Amino acid sequence: MESRLHARPDAGRDPPGRRRPPAAVSRTAGVVIVGGGVTGTSLAFHLASRGVRDVLLLERTALAAGGTGRSVGIIRQLYPTRETSQMVKRSLAVFQRFREAVGGDAGFVGCGALIGVAPGMRATLEATVATQRAVGIRAEILEPSDAARVEPRIDASGLGAVLWEPESGYGDPAAVATAYADAARRLGARIEQGVEVAATLTAGERVAGVATTRGERIAAPVVVDAAGLWAGAVARTAGVELPIVVGRHPVFVVERDAAFGRPHPVYLDLAGGAYVRPETGDLTLTGSLIDDEARHPMDPERLGDPVSLAEAEPALARTSRALPALARARWRGGWAGAFDITPDWMPILDESPVRGLWIAAGMSGHGFKLAPAVGEHLAALVTGAVPPVDPAPFRLARFGSAAASGTFATSYLG
Ligand SMILES: Cc1cc2nc3c(=O)[nH]c(=O)nc-3n(C[C@H](O)[C@H](O)[C@H](O)COP(=O)(O)OP(=O)(O)OC[C@H]3O[C@@H](n4cnc5c(N)ncnc54)[C@H](O)[C@@H]3O)c2cc1C
Repeated sequence: MESRLHARPDAGRDPPGRRRPPAAVSRTAGVVIVGGGVTGTSLAFHLASRGVRDVLLLERTALAAGGTGRSVGIIRQLYPTRETSQMVKRSLAVFQRFREAVGGDAGFVGCGALIGVAPGMRATLEATVATQRAVGIRAEILEPSDAARVEPRIDASGLGAVLWEPESGYGDPAAVATAYADAARRLGARIEQGVEVAATLTAGERVAGVATTRGERIAAPVVVDAAGLWAGAVARTAGVELPIVVGRHPVFVVERDAAFGRPHPVYLDLAGGAYVRPETGDLTLTGSLIDDEARHPMDPERLGDPVSLAEAEPALARTSRALPALARARWRGGWAGAFDITPDWMPILDESPVRGLWIAAGMSGHGFKLAPAVGEHLAALVTGAVPPVDPAPFRLARFGSAAASGTFATSYLG
């Protein structure tokens, strides 16, 4: 069968005077994974663990060069649905024993996470926590006046309740991606950096492989688009439109003063719209939980751009209200991050209308903490096994023509 090449508009253009060699099939793979962030590397590991031979991961620059390397790395467990709760619980179990489960160091710090909600959100919180408990997640709803026994430095006045997740915390996303890639290699997968997929090859209604920007063609019966912020562009080369918006999420860094004392836990103030997570070097990473990223589209090539103090100031004011001792912290800079956002702020983990072309994208700001379960889930689907979590909420077809709604904060409580 003749294979068709769905090329990006600029994919075939060479500099004047240079001619590309004819695109003959130069090699083959069983599964090609596009993207070397936490999603692609976790999937490579899980496919190889299932005995899939000939897994080839292609990363256009370096492992963790995308959203993974710019992530805040928070692992909280408050999710509005049974399936996402199951996924985060499965993932946390991996982070807690990463060295045995995968190998290497995930940088996991189980400092616990506090989540403050407004009085009007308390009933929803109680219902959501019931779902969490049903899947075995440890979480305790505290009266605002009791939050001080966990962390006396947060200002809980005006809150309706504070959720305490003693097992949550944060990890190191770049380290996790690297560790998954190393583990996948040990199991026989090939991980290639500096190789950019220019187009997805199709034959009739099926995927046939990929073409790289070097003019190489790699034949493969299965291709997984795990290109994060670039997933829409990769899928488009196969004629598949993904309902994903790339939305800007800046991260601000401050340095705690000596009087602050021991590091704070992760704190997400859903009422006031701020989050904080400690970092080494007395640093705190902070940002906004009220700006709707979906309404701030960003060119993914601007990832990592510096941010100004002027931009940070409104967010830092909310941070200081949530944790007043941080009002004394020193501004240390920050960076422009971005989320790949779907209309319901939940991932797409599904086969596309092009048979054999799978999508593992639209992580909507959750992709680090879910990565172990996402890789496990996709590996099951791709190999025709039953995934551990019901796949229905992650199907591509669930959206119809819905436009983006809600915000990142609504992905906690619905
Ligand atoms: C600022 C910020 C804060 C975050 N905070 C949290 C958090 O606290 N907790 C949490 O759970 N999640 C968080 N996230 C989300 C999480 O980090 C991401 O969802 C996750 O890291 C995405 O991983 P990925 O592998 O899907 O995508 P990416 O990490 O973006 O990886 C995709 C890779 O594909 C490569 N690529 C793109 N196009 C091509 C191509 N054509 N050919 C080959 N390779 C290609 C890119 O170079 C990139 O390395 C945050 C994200 C950001 C940006």
